[in-house]
Amino acid sequence: MRFEISKVLDAIEGRVCTDPLMARAVVDLAELVRFVDLDGGRPASLLRLGITIDALGRQLQEDGAPVYAVVHRGLLSDADLTSNERMVIRRWADDGLVEVLTNPADRVLEVADLLGLPVLSRQRYDGLAGRYPWVNEPGRVLAPISGSNGPTLKARVGVSMPTAVGVSPAGAKLLARTWRCAESSCALFGGGGGGSFADLVRVERAPYGQPPPSLRTGAPTCPRHESRLSDIGPRPKVEVLAIRIGGQIRQRFVVAPDQQVVVGRAPEQSGGIRLGQWLNDEARRWISRNHVSFELRGGELVARDVSTNGSGIRPGGSMDEANRIALMNHQIRPLGKGDIVELYPGVQVGRAEKMTSGGNFNPTSVMAEAPTMAIRLKP
Ligand SMILES: [Zn+2]
Repeated sequence: MRFEISKVLDAIEGRVCTDPLMARAVVDLAELVRFVDLDGGRPASLLRLGITIDALGRQLQEDGAPVYAVVHRGLLSDADLTSNERMVIRRWADDGLVEVLTNPADRVLEVADLLGLPVLSRQRYDGLAGRYPWVNEPGRVLAPISGSNGPTLKARVGVSMPTAVGVSPAGAKLLARTWRCAESSCALFGGGGGGSFADLVRVERAPYGQPPPSLRTGAPTCPRHESRLSDIGPRPKVEVLAIRIGGQIRQRFVVAPDQQVVVGRAPEQSGGIRLGQWLNDEARRWISRNHVSFELRGGELVARDVSTNGSGIRPGGSMDEANRIALMNHQIRPLGKGDIVELYPGVQVGRAEKMTSGGNFNPTSVMAEAPTMAIRLKP
């Protein structure tokens, strides 16, 4: 059973991040782990994060929708969690997957404000509605609750669709720059202070995935170390793409400068996007291990067909067969804003902001490995 629990926690780990390009909602982890009624289990359980992530995916009709978790430092020593859960959260903190803060205060709302993301919480936030009036807007604050068909998200106002409104003007200014924390081991804005040991820093996180600095003090500040951040230059411009299979968004990914991302049945390249798990037999036979590669050339997004059977471009997302342009034999083509690359009928890649889900949806649960003993979802 312990083995299965750690597999669930590994699956959840793939859905927590502090990356503004990937996160789809913001949570206060210390609050969330105590929603006992979600599963009727222990006083605190990290598995409730998985339950909530699944509910988010169902409601967005999107697989692999990650959450941005803000964590009160006290949770790392909370005796209501298992030692394994505390260890996992500590690892997430070390890897910069979550923000661990001594004084989280309104950081959840600040992140949601800067990134324009919904908040998953049961708090009323009445005292903060003056500063963040959007907490009273439809779909911006949703409570994870147990519904008649299992755990769900109930919006505080309006229909229960998690609503993202896009990065705010203040957020856009912060996300246009790369920031560095004075604390050389900082997992959020690390890379060292440029000292002689800077090259020994464990992980240098990709600058385009840096979280939004806090503005609580008026100047860009590291939310973890509460120290002023240095501006070390412009943030590289990237493209965020999404995979849509059978009408459903399955995964988002980033194409950064000087980087090639291969999409295919089972790409050899590390960081390649593996589609095999979502394909039926015919699509699996048609789509090559390495099928299409994406890169930025002079800031322009281009697709290159590297497959055996070829791909197609659907200009502006048009599903009219007459408009389909064949792409094959290592041909390269720049992609216009709404263009979609089709690897096989219904297997598509395009810019994330232009791709939506539709139709029947069978999301992949992060809780798939959860033993029924540990998770008794209320009917
Ligand atoms: Zn820091």
